[in-house]
Amino acid sequence: MANKRTTKKIQKHVTRTAKQLAKTHNGRVALVFIALLLVAAIAFGAWWFYFRKKPADTPVINPDGGQAAYVQSYPIVSDQDISIHFLELGNHYAGDCVYIKTAECDILIDCGSRLNSLPTITDYLSHYVTDGVFEYVILTHAHQDHIAGFAAAQYNNSFFGAYSVEIFIDSATLVDGALYTRFTNNLTEAVTNHGTTHYTALQCVNETGGAHKSYSVGGGYSMTILDTEYYETPSSNENNNSVSCLFSNGTRNYLFTGDLEEEGEESLIERNTLPLVDLFKAGHHGSYTASSAALMAIIQPKTVVVCCCAGSNEYTEDNNNKFPSQHFVNNVCPYTSEIYVTTLYDTNVSGKQVPFNGNVVYMSKGDVYKLACSASAIKLQDSEWFKVYRELPT
Ligand SMILES: [Zn+2]
Repeated sequence: MANKRTTKKIQKHVTRTAKQLAKTHNGRVALVFIALLLVAAIAFGAWWFYFRKKPADTPVINPDGGQAAYVQSYPIVSDQDISIHFLELGNHYAGDCVYIKTAECDILIDCGSRLNSLPTITDYLSHYVTDGVFEYVILTHAHQDHIAGFAAAQYNNSFFGAYSVEIFIDSATLVDGALYTRFTNNLTEAVTNHGTTHYTALQCVNETGGAHKSYSVGGGYSMTILDTEYYETPSSNENNNSVSCLFSNGTRNYLFTGDLEEEGEESLIERNTLPLVDLFKAGHHGSYTASSAALMAIIQPKTVVVCCCAGSNEYTEDNNNKFPSQHFVNNVCPYTSEIYVTTLYDTNVSGKQVPFNGNVVYMSKGDVYKLACSASAIKLQDSEWFKVYRELPT
C-alpha cells in the first residue's frame, strides 16, 4: 500500500511539473529534450536485448556464401541431413576419430589416437548415439593413432565392448605386432559372438562376399568406398593402405582419405572420378607427405578439418613439417581459408595439449551447411599459432 501511495505521489508530481514546464517556451524545449532522451534509451535497450544478448551458437553468414563457424560444445544435429564430427582425442598425439550421424545411421571412421582416448570418445558419443549401435565402422589402416580404440587387451574395454557394430570395413595391411593382434582378437570376437559383419575395402570395391561399394546411409546420402591399388597389393608404407570413402548426396561431397600419402593419392585419382568436395579431412593429419597439389587441384575443397595436435614434435623437430605442415598450407590455402584444427600442442606444459578449435562439427541440410567448434571458431590462418609458424602462399 505504501508503495502504491508513493508511486501515485510521484506520478502526480511528474504530471504537475510537466504542466508547469509546458507553460513556458524553455519548458517546452526541455520536455521535447526529455522525450527524445526517453526514445533513445528505449532504442538502446532494444538493441542491447536483441543484438548484444544474441546467443553464441547463432551461426553467422560468411561474405563468401558459407557459414562461419560458431562455438557450441554439443550442437543439436537432429534437424540436419547429416553431421560429421571430428573429435579431439584427449591427449597430445595426432590421431583420427570421425563420427558421422544421419537420422538412420551412426558411422565411425577410426578410433585413435591412443587407448586412453576411448573414454573421451565414448563420452562425446554418448550425447548422440542413443541406441548403442554403429551401423558402419571403418578402420582406415592399422597404425596406432587410428586403431587404438579397437585394440584394447580386453574386448569389453575396446570400442567393440562399448557399442554394437553392424558392418566393419578395413584395409589390407602388412602390419603385425601386439596391437594388431589385440585388434584382430576383438574383431573376431565381435564377428563370432556379437553379430558384426566384416568386409575388407577390396571386397567392397569388387562387391564380393556380400559387400557393397556404396551404402545408403540416410539423409539422402551414400557412403562409397573409393578404390586404390593398395587394397589388392598392400604397400610397405601402411599409410597408403588407407581406406578412402566419399559421402555424397549428389551435390554435396565429403572426402576422407585416412593417411594416404602422395602415391596413395595418385592411385585414388587414377582409379576414381573424384568430384569437387565441400569437406575434406586433411590427408595424413596435415603432413607434408599428403594433400598433394594434384589431389587439391581436382577436389578443390571448400572446408578442411585437420585432425592433429598442431605444433607437436611427435614426429619431427622441423617446425615447417609439424602438423599442419607448411606444405599442406601451400597446397590447400589456394582453395579455401576455411581450415579448422582439433588440438594444439601446449608449448607451456611439456606433453600437454589445449583445444585448437576443439571438436569440429560440420552439419548440412540440403545445400546449406554450418560448422560448430567446441572451443574456438577461429580459422587456422587467423590464429596466433599460424602467425608465428606458417605463412600463406603468395
Ligand atoms: Zn595417422
